[in-house]
Amino acid sequence: MLYTLYTLFPDLILPWTQEAIIGRAVEAGLVSFNLRNLREHAQNKWNRVDESPYGGGAGMVLRVDVAARAISEAKAMEPAPDEIILLSPAGEPFSQKIAEELAQKQHLCMLCGRYEGFDARLEPLVTREISIGDYVLMGGEIAALTLIEATARLIPGVLGDQESHQQDSFATGLLDYPEYTRPPDFEGNIVPEILASGHHAKVKQWRREKALERTFLRRPDLLETAALSSQDLKFLETLKKVKAES
Ligand code: SAM
Repeated sequence: MLYTLYTLFPDLILPWTQEAIIGRAVEAGLVSFNLRNLREHAQNKWNRVDESPYGGGAGMVLRVDVAARAISEAKAMEPAPDEIILLSPAGEPFSQKIAEELAQKQHLCMLCGRYEGFDARLEPLVTREISIGDYVLMGGEIAALTLIEATARLIPGVLGDQESHQQDSFATGLLDYPEYTRPPDFEGNIVPEILASGHHAKVKQWRREKALERTFLRRPDLLETAALSSQDLKFLETLKKVKAES
């Protein structure tokens, strides 16, 4: 996967591409990064990328012509970008499902805004707009890194077996089950006995029930679309009964 990022602060992103799992994935040739400074496309005396907004008001707006030149440059790259993504609070909400879709691509190009964001005439020039949540960041860099983190880990070979994503929250349609490790007794809080039983089938069932229980208590909305077996549904019925009685 090639990630091309247009930002005013490529140096903010660089360290993220050099360390930990992403750094290893770069070394292994599984992902690569093209960090471009939007300012290179300014083409004016002062290298200005922003101007005050038409109609007045606070802040500065990023120029559409600057972004359009960046997009033309990206489109000439090999391979051409499968998606040109504008990070924006007004975009479609990012999700595991979108991450799974994007992780299948070869080249994602992302545009990181700053200040009041980009001139709205950029919108028809991108293939999608994505928001990472209902809050406003100071710039699109963290949003772009969020997309990178969520997609790169789905690329085969990026995570080792130890770091498998198959059971993660959302991958199964549910929140993940709770995990435990040493010590077995932390200030009187004991690891559930079943996990040390060595009984794989029982551990599997316990984990499924805990995932269902967590999802039921914390994110019941996810249960509406999760793939549930008749056994899951029966278990959820008992949870509902317990809740109604308490
Ligand atoms: N005036 C804009 C608004 O209210 O929608 C906010 C601009 S924000 C200060 C500057 C840039 O940060 C945006 O252009 C976008 O690239 C990025 N950004 C901020 N919040 C974001 C979010 N929730 N998701 C994705 N990008 C975001």
